[in-house]
Amino acid sequence: MLNQPTAALMMEEIEVAPPQEGEIRIKVVATGVCHTDLYHLFEGKDKRGFPTVLGHEGAGVVESVGPGVTDFKPGDKVIPLFLSQCGECKFCKCPKTNLCDRNWSSKYHDIMSDPTTRFTCRDRPILQFMGTSTFSEYTVINQIAVAKIDDDAPLERVCLLGCGISTGYGAAVNTAGVTPGSVCAVFGLGAVGLAAVMGCKNAGASRIFAVDINEQKFEKAKVFGATDFLNPKAYNKPISEVLAEMTNGGVDFSLECVGNTEVMRTALESCVKGWGVSVLVGWTDVKDFSARPIQLISGKTWKGSLFGGFKSKDSVPNLVCDYMTGKIKLDEFITHKMSLEQVNDAINLMKTGQCIRCILNISK
Ligand code: NAD
Ligand code: ZN
Repeated sequence: MLNQPTAALMMEEIEVAPPQEGEIRIKVVATGVCHTDLYHLFEGKDKRGFPTVLGHEGAGVVESVGPGVTDFKPGDKVIPLFLSQCGECKFCKCPKTNLCDRNWSSKYHDIMSDPTTRFTCRDRPILQFMGTSTFSEYTVINQIAVAKIDDDAPLERVCLLGCGISTGYGAAVNTAGVTPGSVCAVFGLGAVGLAAVMGCKNAGASRIFAVDINEQKFEKAKVFGATDFLNPKAYNKPISEVLAEMTNGGVDFSLECVGNTEVMRTALESCVKGWGVSVLVGWTDVKDFSARPIQLISGKTWKGSLFGGFKSKDSVPNLVCDYMTGKIKLDEFITHKMSLEQVNDAINLMKTGQCIRCILNISK
């Protein structure tokens, strides 16, 4: 549990109330640690978002269901979704978007949490981070934000489909719409960026530039299909110029997977005029971004992507199947495994760039 921004997470005994109408209580089995957890800890820092239980990239088993829940039963394997799919709002009904109006983020975007929580600690309510809170043995979530998955799915791996991998992969295949033979650049090679590399590769890109200031990430990027590796710090001119020279004018698709407004600008500037598409995937909401209007006037498109553009409840079970049939990789993202007690060590590994994904084993 986390009481205030920038502090260490504390192990606390909390009460997890039974599920109410339409809700499901989930026994969390495993969870990844994503940079968005770190963002809330160190960068976002909106004090109203605390105390909270972090974690949003988990998988588990249904423990009990509330009244009116018919699609889930105790024992079902599930993945909690930080982006819901109610199926009824105007956004869910529209094929152009994966946003759902009933998601916590429609109302509580600033605090990054759902205040209608079933968590209490010594009678004090505890916020539910991104509506999920997977750094907990149990959590309660509305059925519109839970995906039922294959009974044979290994939970300690497919948990990654609850956020990072679906996000990066979908940003390439759905939002950018990477085309066969195209040239792509991915900025930031954490799990999200590496999944974007995998998406570019699966979509048939002929050349994939992997860009990161931490060169230790390049080896993994190769595993996922990157063909060229660039460290912006190794050049004495902007990396957008380096890319323009290497590609005869710029890349067809660029994806920003860092969460840095300067890199967002660079990613846009790295695209070719006329048809280049740049996608914002990295998460930040504390600074404005900027670019010269000519960048867009010259025919480039600047887009953003939440959860890879996937309609969550429909798509996550299919992505689990894609993993089980070998269409997408997951194992290669996992560099560390720890217990929930070691969560602060896991956060430190990510903060210092030493891991791709650390999986926390929560319960058997
Ligand atoms: P991560 O910390 O594991 O990876 C970030 C990578 O960016 C690191 O390899 C780091 O070395 C690199 N980097 C830092 N500064 C850079 C720079 N100036 N130029 C190039 N590379 C640089 O993080 P992650 O878990 O992969 O998440 C990446 C981003 O995606 C975060 O901002 C996260 O909040 C965001 N995110 C967005 C969504 C969404 O739906 N849009 C979902 C999940 C995560
Ligand atoms: Zn995440």
